[in-house]
Amino acid sequence: MRIILLGAPGAGKGTQAATLHEHLNAPHIATGDLFRAALSQGTPLGLEAKSYMDRGELVPDDVTVRMLLERISQPDAADGYILDGFPRSLAQAEALDEALKSHNETVDKVLLVDVSEDELVRRLSGRWICRACQTPYHAVSNPPKTEGMCDADGGELYQRDDDKPETVRNRLGVYRDQTAPLIDYYTAQEILTSINGEQEIDVVRADLLAAIN
Ligand code: ADP
Ligand code: ADP
Repeated sequence: MRIILLGAPGAGKGTQAATLHEHLNAPHIATGDLFRAALSQGTPLGLEAKSYMDRGELVPDDVTVRMLLERISQPDAADGYILDGFPRSLAQAEALDEALKSHNETVDKVLLVDVSEDELVRRLSGRWICRACQTPYHAVSNPPKTEGMCDADGGELYQRDDDKPETVRNRLGVYRDQTAPLIDYYTAQEILTSINGEQEIDVVRADLLAAIN
């Protein structure tokens, strides 16, 4: 199955994808994680992406689409995947549809994780991420068992630079202007289901699974 998790920064896409991908036995592909990995390896792609990420802007579509199409062409993605953080613009959505069409494939489901702006700001300001596996935690609503340490692999937890309040405001504006139009795009294709993301993590997960099955 080819699934897109759509939602604003902080909606809980990464949190949900981490368990959904085990359930569906499909890779979790997050373009933000791919950019951060490229940056930590110091590749030209990572360095190009950095200036946009630091400002909370979108990395240009051509670079992002190329990276994503390369990733979904890997053998582990042959039977499907869960996309998190892609597409983020109409041009990206159209490029994905176009590329899938050339293989007689389509996106199966788009799951919109819907969360109010006040709650997004609260979540991002308390977010901690594992340096090794990228699993997100929250200082208050989803703390790790041991402070500063990832439950899954013991990795060090850190706060992303782009989760500081000025950048968060910019990212939420970018979401409204450039990404939210995808709701209409996928509604018109009749593949979008909206989930209330402002519930306990387990309840959101159950709703997502119900929408998928
Ligand atoms: P979040 O999970 O908080 O929404 P991400 O990790 O998905 O954040 O993205 C972090 C940053 O990486 C974005 O602000 C943007 O600069 C860049 N980025 C990630 N995915 C995309 C994309 N599909 N198109 C353009 N830029 C992207
Ligand atoms: P996204 O990938 O959409 O940017 P994350 O999965 O990183 O969002 O979640 C953002 C923050 O909100 C993290 O700190 C995470 O622990 C927390 N979070 C995720 N889902 C919930 C939820 N249902 N209730 C409360 N906090 C949540």
